[in-house]
Amino acid sequence: MQASVAASSNITYKLLYNSAIAMTGGQSTATSNSMPVKDVADVLLRQGVKRVIVTTDDLDRYRRITMPTDVEVWARSRIIEAQTTLRDVSGVTVLIHDQQCAAEKRRSRKRGLIPDPPERIHINQRVCEGCGDCGVKSNCLCVEPVETELGRKTQINQNSCNKDYTCLGGECPSFLTVVAAKSRGRRFAWGGGEGGRPSTGVTRRRRPQLDASELPDPALIVPSDQVTIRMPGIGGTGVVTVNQVIGTAALLDGRHVWDWTRRA
Ligand code: SF4
Ligand code: SF4
Repeated sequence: MQASVAASSNITYKLLYNSAIAMTGGQSTATSNSMPVKDVADVLLRQGVKRVIVTTDDLDRYRRITMPTDVEVWARSRIIEAQTTLRDVSGVTVLIHDQQCAAEKRRSRKRGLIPDPPERIHINQRVCEGCGDCGVKSNCLCVEPVETELGRKTQINQNSCNKDYTCLGGECPSFLTVVAAKSRGRRFAWGGGEGGRPSTGVTRRRRPQLDASELPDPALIVPSDQVTIRMPGIGGTGVVTVNQVIGTAALLDGRHVWDWTRRA
């Protein structure tokens, strides 16, 4: 960015401020030392950036924050407008988008660290006309086309949906919101309650106790010496974790595991 300023480039940078280190498993940043958004914007302006706009999914967070003069904070829904506004400013400009990493948010909900909204979105495929407007409005990958006996319709991928309800903005009558019946799981506290992390009040299912010796051996579908596993994914998908599990299993089985990324 500083090189762009020095070269008098005409460019807009997008800076995602998401509280997690991307593509490496979502470790949290060193929060005690990390710079708040207002300081990041201040530094950028002092370095010669012409204009900074902050967009966020939570404007309330900024109610009591005094931003540097001329730095505006906009709702996430105005992100395209922010892009085109900055595009028309001559020189280096920066769009800072402040929103928690979606993969981390999902993980935190699964671990009971933050509440999981009970409301889910579904699409009534008998009403849906497959026009695709909800996908355009929400710009969300979880809004997917699906072939049904009634023709091509749209569905919400429940596995990846983050429940931020942006897709409801299109006011389409096909959308249904469903609140699941209360889970019968126990109240839960990380670390076993007393002395552990404080309970978030989130209900969580009891983890099943598995005895490895009781698990049956898997049925081989292809001969074990002819197997190649390719594991594509993006940050948060679990590729590193699954590789670690398979590698550890192979080691326990007396095999050699080679980390190709450390070949150099
Ligand atoms: S759910 Fe509504 S907006 Fe989305 S594709 Fe179907 S008819 Fe169109
Ligand atoms: S609720 Fe949010 S994440 Fe889920 S499908 Fe709608 S826009 Fe996508």
